[in-house]
Amino acid sequence: MNDHADDLPRKSRPERGPYRSPALSPADVATIAALEEDRWKCHCGNIPHSDGFAPANRRGREVEPTPDQWPEPLYVCNRCGLVMDAATVNLTTHTVAVVGRILL
Ligand SMILES: [Zn+2]
Repeated sequence: MNDHADDLPRKSRPERGPYRSPALSPADVATIAALEEDRWKCHCGNIPHSDGFAPANRRGREVEPTPDQWPEPLYVCNRCGLVMDAATVNLTTHTVAVVGRILL
């Protein structure tokens, strides 16, 4: 039998480009710098040890980091309101994708 149909390469391909969500405004930047997995530098200059980033949902609202409230690893910049998806951290290009912006 020839049954390797399920043997697909498991490549996670982060979504690129502007992501539009009804509640998030489109951001004017596609990515921000990710020095390490959890050390980001926002477009506004914010870093974790400055104003920091907070767990957020698809609507850009701050949430508790529980599986229930936080199904996706999104973070909002506490300074400028950009919302990033931590699942897209790329340590080769040192970027993380911006999914939108909330107006603070
Ligand atoms: Zn920012």
